[in-house]
Amino acid sequence: MPVSQTGRTLALRNRDEQIQGMADREFDVVVVGGGITGSGIALDCTARGLSVALVDKGDFAIGTSSRSTKLVHGGLRYLAQYQFRVTHEALTERYVLEQLAPGLVEWTPFVLPMYGSVFEMAKVGVGLVLYDTLAGGRTPNPHRRIGADELAAMAPGLKRDRLLGAYVYSDCRTDDVRLTLEVLKTAASRGATIANHAEVTGFVKEGGRATGVQVTDRLGGRRFVVRGRTVVLATGVWIDHLLRMDDPAAPRCVRPAKGVHLVIERARFGFDVALFLPTAPDGRLVFVVPWQGATLIGTTDTDYDESIDSPLATREDCEYLLTSINNAFPEARLTMADLVSVQAGLRPLVSAGGGDTTKVSREDRIFETASGIVAIAGGKLTTYRKMAERVTDLVVKRHVAAGHLTTAPVCATDRIGIGGFAPGPTPALGSANLPAATLEYLLKTYGRSAATVAEIAAEQAVLAKPIVPTLPSVMAEITYAVRHEQARTIADALARRTHVVQLTRDQGRAVAERVGRVMAGELGWNDAELRSQLASFETEVSQYSVPA
Ligand SMILES: Cc1cc2nc3c(=O)[nH]c(=O)nc-3n(C[C@H](O)[C@H](O)[C@H](O)COP(=O)(O)OP(=O)(O)OC[C@H]3O[C@@H](n4cnc5c(N)ncnc54)[C@H](O)[C@@H]3O)c2cc1C
Repeated sequence: MPVSQTGRTLALRNRDEQIQGMADREFDVVVVGGGITGSGIALDCTARGLSVALVDKGDFAIGTSSRSTKLVHGGLRYLAQYQFRVTHEALTERYVLEQLAPGLVEWTPFVLPMYGSVFEMAKVGVGLVLYDTLAGGRTPNPHRRIGADELAAMAPGLKRDRLLGAYVYSDCRTDDVRLTLEVLKTAASRGATIANHAEVTGFVKEGGRATGVQVTDRLGGRRFVVRGRTVVLATGVWIDHLLRMDDPAAPRCVRPAKGVHLVIERARFGFDVALFLPTAPDGRLVFVVPWQGATLIGTTDTDYDESIDSPLATREDCEYLLTSINNAFPEARLTMADLVSVQAGLRPLVSAGGGDTTKVSREDRIFETASGIVAIAGGKLTTYRKMAERVTDLVVKRHVAAGHLTTAPVCATDRIGIGGFAPGPTPALGSANLPAATLEYLLKTYGRSAATVAEIAAEQAVLAKPIVPTLPSVMAEITYAVRHEQARTIADALARRTHVVQLTRDQGRAVAERVGRVMAGELGWNDAELRSQLASFETEVSQYSVPA
């Protein structure tokens, strides 16, 4: 499968110009929501020659798409629930995405220790044979069984009592926000008009049909209309809110399920393998995944009916996860004091009545409302490209039926490399005034766009300095985020373009003002604006702080 790169500049263009460019203009498609689902739809539609505008009420990936376990995986859990279609599609996508964005989507060995029941171990073994088979042999290494000694060498300190051995199998890891941003930048390079902090507050209708959206610029305050032949809702757990804007009697469509992750320092374990541990108090499986030089532990899975704008991790959520880990690593004795940060995300599960959220299918649902709005609910990060394909197929079908298209272009995103990670030569960054370890980190984080970050670092000595001494991130990334990725708030820069918020115990508070001043230099903020930005930063990042 030859994978194409984009020859044009990979950037989200100037936000003010993008807003200017979408106001009162008609597009083929208006996509509401800039998480991974909306971003994938924007790219697929643009790649098929449709004109596209995309808006997000917050920052790109501010919702669930920055709060996942960051796995591109088939989902062994779903296989155990006989969700074969979801698992097969996800395993196929795992392979496709690794080809489209090598380095951003990367193979990782996962270790699943087995305790107690020989029957259970045999059952999981059969499941893994099926997992490899459904993947069509497209894994670097099929699963294998290992004994207690090899396991002890891979994960020192793991409980040995009643241990039968372990399975090692392959899945992929990614960075969910970066994946979303790179998909958006690919869509932008093909002509999509994209803006964050632009909230849809209503629909424009003619003869009962939706012909556009009313938008409020949450930064500038301007209100405007974006017209679209098709309006697509990709708003994750917010979908019911938008459907009720369209029709106050719309039935509930998603059932939010909260999932919490903890971040702890890597040194607390000191090993780099990913684990899938069957040691939660209720028998669920919990992931321990190396992430950004730290360790990510998750997740919980509970029904949620509070504010969907700012889900919080409770002390009870944290203690559940800590107990799960301490059950597996008795000597670790992790406590709340070990937590660097927490994050809570909401799964947009397709509503299927009551029952245990862990058993609700991860399938997506695509439908049209009476006013002609196309909506998608549910799904997974891993399958975003296929979800986008199905939505775009429907959009294209409508455009052909309405005579706006004479032929139906087919999906091409399985051949479009993703952003700076599209396969291609690695740029030479040798001349930059940055240490080799920083250059390596930039290449890992931005792919080929690392060259642009390195050029910015060479502009001023201060931009080559670390943002915080304990992390490899440099100040040039903040400038890059403003100039090329539409970062417009301090949290955009510190919580999503970089992960300083999640990787520092003070959630980046100590450097917020310094970072704000760099952004002020780029964006022309005065002192009052900087103060207001710092106050908003405090409000937003408190949700990542460890609960008292
Ligand atoms: C704890 C947890 C772990 C997970 N782990 C994995 C995993 O490892 N692998 C995997 O494949 N999947 C995983 N998932 C699932 C995956 O993260 C989600 O399916 C996916 O991120 C959903 O993306 P989305 O774009 O549909 O929604 P979101 O990312 O929530 O995006 C919706 C967007 O719509 C915007 N929006 C809302 N209202 C408006 C409005 N009025 N106007 C404009 N914009 C609006 C929001 O601001 C938001 O950015 C996990 C989910 C959770 C909760």
